[in-house]
Amino acid sequence: MDNLLDYTFEELNDIVLSFNQPKYRTNQLYSALQNYKNANEITNLPKTFVANLSEKYIFCPLTIIKKQTGKDGTIKFLYKLYDGNIIEGVLMSYKYGNTLCVSTQVGCRMGCKFCASTLNGLVRNLTSGEILAQVLCVNKELKGTYQDRKITNIVLMGSGEPLDNYDNVVKFIKMVSCDKGINISQRNISLSTCGLVEKIDMLKDENLQITLTISLHASNDEIRKQTMPIANKYKIKELIEATKRYFNKTKRRIVFEYALIENVNDCFDCADELGKLLRGLSCHVNLIPLNDVKERSLKGTTKKRAYAFMDRLLSNNISATVRRTMGEDIDGACGQLRAKYINNNI
Ligand code: SAH
Repeated sequence: MDNLLDYTFEELNDIVLSFNQPKYRTNQLYSALQNYKNANEITNLPKTFVANLSEKYIFCPLTIIKKQTGKDGTIKFLYKLYDGNIIEGVLMSYKYGNTLCVSTQVGCRMGCKFCASTLNGLVRNLTSGEILAQVLCVNKELKGTYQDRKITNIVLMGSGEPLDNYDNVVKFIKMVSCDKGINISQRNISLSTCGLVEKIDMLKDENLQITLTISLHASNDEIRKQTMPIANKYKIKELIEATKRYFNKTKRRIVFEYALIENVNDCFDCADELGKLLRGLSCHVNLIPLNDVKERSLKGTTKKRAYAFMDRLLSNNISATVRRTMGEDIDGACGQLRAKYINNNI
């Protein structure tokens, strides 16, 4: 069955008209959906119309089945999709607002060695409405409405590779920033990718104001190939060239994620090499000590070493910060909670 949240306002309008309903019903239905109301919670539409709709369409494609709050206030959500698949999300509270991390696929096929999302490969893509549902469902859980939203920022950094699910992800970004709905500013949305070069080139022409984040995690191809299979497909140089084209077109500063892995990519030579690679590009480097993943034998760098690495980058004139690791005590890293759930450890 199709999911009503997969449709834009205009597309929803066509559906409403096809049920012989007046046009103003579209506003009512759209508002209800943006508040993540299920069919039985909608009171301002004719009962028969709602009943006919629910025979053909799903209203709420996912539900929260588990909520874990960490010491730092980070909340991890486990959602169940209507087909039984499990995905996860993380809510982080900052001074300026709440950021929700959303998943774009069930599983992932990129195979990064440090990432728990990829342990069982890709199960399926999420539709645009299923990605949107994560935002609307958590907003409702926080007692927000679409006009008085409790989520201000979104990062596409949950499980999945967003650019491997390109059309659904781009449609999601347009829908979640639509001024008729929850209207989260594109400037408050970050899309993180392991670096699919052709897709970055497509994305630059979509006229979006989002921040492109590249999971780089290495300063040269040899090191990158040790942990990221995608490095066999695209050379780092090609990837950096694509980010330059992205910046030139969008004027949006590029963010690079660099997970520091003990004795793999955390030496000063790597920092200098990274400095050289990024010289002249308008960018920022987010350093994050790797969250240890038990299934793999890769360990995070110490805090001290992370700050020394940052200083080395700064001395190369590269803007860099060490990111707070949030939600470590609640399996905050990508796919960790889902992996545990699937293995019946919780
Ligand atoms: N597929 C996308 C988005 C999902 S991952 C991407 O590759 O960017 C979100 C971020 O978390 C990525 O930068 C990813 O490399 C990082 N990540 C995955 N596992 C991690 C771990 N164990 N510790 C720290 N960062 C991790």
